[in-house]
Amino acid sequence: MTSRPSEQNDADYLLIGGGLQNALILLALAKRNPTATVLMLEQDQSLGGNHIWSFQALDLPVAARSWAAPVAEYTWPGYQLYFHQSSRWVGGTYSSLSSEHLERLLRQAEVDNPNIRIRTGARVRASDATSATLEDGTVLRGRLVIDARGPESRTGASGGGYQKFLGLECKLRRPAPITAPILMDTRCTQRNGFRFLYVLPFAPDRVLVEDTYFSNSPEIDADALRAPLVADAAAMGLDIERVLRTEVGVLPMPSRNVFNPQARGPIQGGYTGGWFNPGTGYSFAAAIRLAEHLSQTPIEQVFGPQWRGLVRRMRVQAVFFAFLNLLMFGFFHDAQRRKLMERFYLLPDPVIHRFFAMETTLADQWRILWVGAPWTPKGWARRPETQPPVTSE
Ligand SMILES: Cc1cc2nc3c(=O)[nH]c(=O)nc-3n(C[C@H](O)[C@H](O)[C@H](O)COP(=O)(O)OP(=O)(O)OC[C@H]3O[C@@H](n4cnc5c(N)ncnc54)[C@H](O)[C@@H]3O)c2cc1C
Repeated sequence: MTSRPSEQNDADYLLIGGGLQNALILLALAKRNPTATVLMLEQDQSLGGNHIWSFQALDLPVAARSWAAPVAEYTWPGYQLYFHQSSRWVGGTYSSLSSEHLERLLRQAEVDNPNIRIRTGARVRASDATSATLEDGTVLRGRLVIDARGPESRTGASGGGYQKFLGLECKLRRPAPITAPILMDTRCTQRNGFRFLYVLPFAPDRVLVEDTYFSNSPEIDADALRAPLVADAAAMGLDIERVLRTEVGVLPMPSRNVFNPQARGPIQGGYTGGWFNPGTGYSFAAAIRLAEHLSQTPIEQVFGPQWRGLVRRMRVQAVFFAFLNLLMFGFFHDAQRRKLMERFYLLPDPVIHRFFAMETTLADQWRILWVGAPWTPKGWARRPETQPPVTSE
């Protein structure tokens, strides 16, 4: 797949934006197609923004594991869920990474491979199939342009609701009584939509605790949420010494399909192009599938049969998840949303994993709709096994 840029090109692959999507593409190309030239353009001075991204093992297609394994900075054997009337352990590797970790991997790839260049402080004003124009008027050319400028550059109403959160990464005075992630704890006071807490224990004395809302409005007053979140964390036994980092996010959960990639450049990647899971608001599963495709396919064949197959598969998933959002935000109100979630997590682990990975089967889709329906008996699909203990008081 060797492909030198022609003289008038600055690179084979011109990546606009140094966030999650293009980071995954760069890392995939570095491993799979090291002779290709890659130029990444990022407006900020650092790469990856200010995030903690999480994903589960199945979000990574099997073939991608060879190059994507180092992306995981923290890894746990599963995660815990707590509801008012039940609790649940979901087994299967769950991983997280920080923006700093992603930036280290990108910088290392640049050091290891002279064909890879990263320009920070390079704000792109416009892009087309073969070029990017910077704010200062400089035009850079590539054989394939991937424009992944992130959620801010996404325009247009998509209906549905929002997943919004305030996350505090905290240093603790004494070890956390939690050793595995809590993906959802709905036992907290409910307000402003359906609310739950999310906890990632990075180290005995360092956790991320996140206050999350599934809400019909995108407004979030992070200052006002901070003190109640600290109090909730204390009630979970997290003795906070100081807050190391704050993360605020609002992710649209569309009720209309927003995944309509065109079979021509520039490729709109990442959040901008709808390469995210509308059911979770998370990008990893979709973004890695695009990275996998681009790193495996010569540029001349990028929009060939593999592209069409990938787009078709992803669109089926995106449409199903948009329909779920329509139900969730259009028909289920706050307390019902909580019940809906509790019911969803009665499903077997593999169904849950495929939901996150955007690989639901028709049978999964039927089960998700059935188990979510208010008339379905609650014990249906409950797994008999008991959860392993993940907390100790
Ligand atoms: C707080 C928060 C937590 C999240 N947690 C998760 C999670 O746990 N798991 C998960 O899968 N997803 C998560 N998501 C969703 C998703 O991962 C992010 O939205 C993801 O970063 C999208 O990837 P992206 O590459 O499209 O955009 P981004 O990662 O936002 O990257 C876009 C990049 O483009 C740059 N850029 C923008 N405009 C220009 C320009 N004009 N010129 C040059 N560069 C530009 C930006 O500075 C940025 O670096 C989270 C989102 C938020 C907001």
